[in-house]
Amino acid sequence: MSAFPMIPDTHAHLDLIDEDARNVVERAREHDVSPIITVGIDLSSSRLAAKHAETIAGVFASVGIHPNSTQDLKPDTFDLLKEIISGKKNVVAIGETGLDYYRKAAQKESQEKSFRAHIRLAKELSKTLIIHDRDAHLDVLRTLDEERPEFPVVMHCFSGDEDFLSQCLRRGFYISFAGPLTFPNAQRTREIASCVPLKSVLVETDAPFLSPHPFRGKKNLPERARLVAEALSSIHRVDPTEMSAILRENTGAAFLVDI
Ligand SMILES: [Zn+2]
Ligand SMILES: [Zn+2]
Repeated sequence: MSAFPMIPDTHAHLDLIDEDARNVVERAREHDVSPIITVGIDLSSSRLAAKHAETIAGVFASVGIHPNSTQDLKPDTFDLLKEIISGKKNVVAIGETGLDYYRKAAQKESQEKSFRAHIRLAKELSKTLIIHDRDAHLDVLRTLDEERPEFPVVMHCFSGDEDFLSQCLRRGFYISFAGPLTFPNAQRTREIASCVPLKSVLVETDAPFLSPHPFRGKKNLPERARLVAEALSSIHRVDPTEMSAILRENTGAAFLVDI
């Protein structure tokens, strides 16, 4: 048994890691990281995410279409997403959805249309929403305010300033930090993280992307959620064991699961 409470990784892409998912999950557990929420980015990756969550202990899934993959959505895409979720108790969230004005892989209009459809689906199915927001803070807030999600909202890999943070906190959103929190030159991100009340913080890896220091630039793995959690405990001057307990409680509340 581990001396530490396990640290949850609230956002990873198991299907994009070039390695057997079972081994990845097993090794994460050996590093005291569990559970893992694996996040779909399109229909086929959402199917895999749901399958991993149903077949591997300690894995939950989120299903959705990444904003960068919204260019050619078919009329039946959201019916198919609904089908993937149906009857699967370990699919706990919808996303990642949101807006990405940085990469501009899809038109703003198709991103927003898809974002709205995700919010409606989350309401219909009583699920948490995982939001991807790059350089689109105001439109993300406007869309959420217009569609009014009724279940928890998680801002994944938070990248806003103090003002945007307070807008998100006012709405009760969870704020999730990833590897960039550990980068030596990310003082600004750490300042923002210090402003998030402990009841609203989450950690994630976004593996295989965004490897924390000292693995920056290498393939990321869920086991490195520990490094993000350690950075957060030193920022908040909270004992790492206490931080693990806080992160577990927040993850349970954010995703409406018992962990
Ligand atoms: Zn993302
Ligand atoms: Zn992601």
